[in-house]
Amino acid sequence: MLDHMMSKIAPHYCCGCDRIGSLLCDNCKYNIISDKETICINCRRPASISNLCGDCKVPYERAWIVGKREKVLQRLIGLYKFERAKEAHIQLADLLLATLPVLPDNLVIVPVPTTSAHIRERGYDHCCLVARRLAKIRGLKIEKLLSRKTNTKQRQASAKLRQKQAKDAFEINKKPDADKIYLLIDDVVTTGATIKYAALNLRKAGAKHVWVAAIARQALD
Ligand SMILES: [Zn+2]
Ligand SMILES: [Zn+2]
Repeated sequence: MLDHMMSKIAPHYCCGCDRIGSLLCDNCKYNIISDKETICINCRRPASISNLCGDCKVPYERAWIVGKREKVLQRLIGLYKFERAKEAHIQLADLLLATLPVLPDNLVIVPVPTTSAHIRERGYDHCCLVARRLAKIRGLKIEKLLSRKTNTKQRQASAKLRQKQAKDAFEINKKPDADKIYLLIDDVVTTGATIKYAALNLRKAGAKHVWVAAIARQALD
């Protein structure tokens, strides 16, 4: 409660340059956006325009990543996920908005669900807040089609274990509509296993088109 009150009263400083005003100033935001890399979300090899190469066989058709999890973007995500800076969902949604193209009207935003233990720790569902803001600003629908089956934490898991955990992580809450495009929103993509199985669950349940967007790509080394 006190945290919440303090965040309303205390001024924000840009996590990139300390300028007073917001957690991310326009200048630092521009630097993140213009630093965009074209690397495949799945195999990490160069991709031509978006963040999906032509060779990867994945259950989604298009992918976008704001940037690599480093420097200012790393700090902003850290504040949001581990230091209860709930306000940062606005800046993170802004970064996604600047990364995504114009989206079709039949597109539905689907947040990748967070484990309930993490929601309790933070006091908010971080991915859902970003997704909700994105949907609101773009005038799109949001549906929580997926939920977490297990409460397994991925933070320290090896790549192999992540694959296995991600495979059984989700269940479907509602049948997707084959005429809609579903845009999965995730925060940090590491091996790509989470986003792959989230998309696969939607496809298996009847979705024909799944796209994905993530805030950052985590370096594996
Ligand atoms: Zn700044
Ligand atoms: Zn690829």
